[in-house]
Amino acid sequence: MNIILLGPPGAGKGTQARRLVDERNMIQLSTGDMLRAARISGTTMGKKVAAIMDAGELVTDEIVIGLIEEQLAGDSGGGFIFDGFPRTLAQADALGELLAKTGKKLATVVEMAVDDDALVKRISGRFTCGKCGEVYHEETKRPATEGVCDQCGASDFRFRADDNEESLRVRLLEYYKKTSPLIGYYYAKGLLQTVDGLDSMDGVAAQINAALAKVK
Ligand code: AMP
Repeated sequence: MNIILLGPPGAGKGTQARRLVDERNMIQLSTGDMLRAARISGTTMGKKVAAIMDAGELVTDEIVIGLIEEQLAGDSGGGFIFDGFPRTLAQADALGELLAKTGKKLATVVEMAVDDDALVKRISGRFTCGKCGEVYHEETKRPATEGVCDQCGASDFRFRADDNEESLRVRLLEYYKKTSPLIGYYYAKGLLQTVDGLDSMDGVAAQINAALAKVK
């Protein structure tokens, strides 16, 4: 089953995608993670997008569609979770074409609804394990042993360069201008389901599982 997790920055898409990977053998396709990996490895593309990402703006459709296209050719396991993609109507159209070309289809789009105040709180304080990508929060989810990742035992925590208030404001504006029209787009296609992203992590996971059960 191929699904999209749709929602503003900080809605918890990455956290829920990782759960689905563990529980359902799905494959997470996060364009944000792919772009961050390209930056770290210093590829030409990585260098090109670094400043755009830090400012909180969207990188070009061409770049992210290319990244997704490469991944779709590979194994889909229990299905793909599109996390942070598509973010524009052009990307949504391209995804539809790419899926059709590879004989795949989109089962559902799960919108994670969260209010803006909660997003600011969630994002300031967020940090991740540099080795396995587990997501933590200074107030709501600290590692069991201070400084050590619960999942992989590494001691390499990182804050994202774009997780600051100024960048977040731009990211939210980008979301409302360019990404939120996708809610109507997928609603019109009969694919949209909405969950309350302000519920607890387990609560949101249960809502997502219920949404996926409807389309099995
Ligand atoms: P994320 O980790 O999904 O919050 O993405 C971090 C940053 O990567 C975004 O603020 C954008 O600059 C860029 N990015 C990630 N996915 C996309 C996308 N689908 N389209 C355009 N830019 C993206």
